[in-house]
Amino acid sequence: MSSAPDANADANSVETASSSSSSLPALRFDLLSLFPALFDGFLSESILKRAIEKKRVEVHRWDMREWAEGKHKQVDDRPFGGGAGMVLMAPPVVAAVEAVQAQAECPGRLIALTPQGRRLDQAWVRELAGEARIVLLCGRYEGFDERILETLEPEQLSIGDYVLSGGEVAAMVVVDAVMRLLPGVLGDAESAIDESFGPDGGLEYPHYTRPREFRGRGVPEILLGGDHAAIARWRREHRR
Ligand code: SAM
Repeated sequence: MSSAPDANADANSVETASSSSSSLPALRFDLLSLFPALFDGFLSESILKRAIEKKRVEVHRWDMREWAEGKHKQVDDRPFGGGAGMVLMAPPVVAAVEAVQAQAECPGRLIALTPQGRRLDQAWVRELAGEARIVLLCGRYEGFDERILETLEPEQLSIGDYVLSGGEVAAMVVVDAVMRLLPGVLGDAESAIDESFGPDGGLEYPHYTRPREFRGRGVPEILLGGDHAAIARWRREHRR
């Protein structure tokens, strides 16, 4: 039997008591990792911090080691068949995911971070922004025992064709890209409208700010003239 901790195990839950600016329900993220402290700075700065304070996002971090058995709380072991590295063991990881999914009425959309997964793009990000709950499973070492994937049948997501040391950075990419699309998260100054990878798939136009001249390079005259229609046309024409 797995030693499943009680609901208080989520000691790292990040929610604040500040007043809600919106009546919309928060999107709940659950991040399962062997190194949940890696998320500390990420959750406590800038736009994500404000999104949590505004209760548009709720982030719960879970240490999967809590579900490991024995004195040493072992979570990884050598691969059958030999070879380099360690593999994440099925019993603690499956127990952790099942217990965390059971923490709320909605089990959520379960996604394992893995280089073998489908590559994340903005269309998938937009889809995820419509969810009520997303559970992100972070691998480490050589990755997951295959039976973890067979048992839990998560979606598998890659952030690109390169190998990271762990799924935590990939999970941060997902949380960041998704939360900024939630209504009320970005202020006017940071609007997600008109950004790269919008519905037309295009990239954004060049931006300029003060000073007007930098090392002999000026600003396109049209952006200084105040003719909004002309500026909008220029920006359309200069989408990359
Ligand atoms: N042995 C694996 C391979 O060759 O495909 C790499 C394992 S990697 C060192 C450890 C963990 O980092 C993975 O289980 C996964 O959770 C995460 N990871 C690494 N690269 C990733 C990527 N491009 N996208 C998403 N997660 C990634």
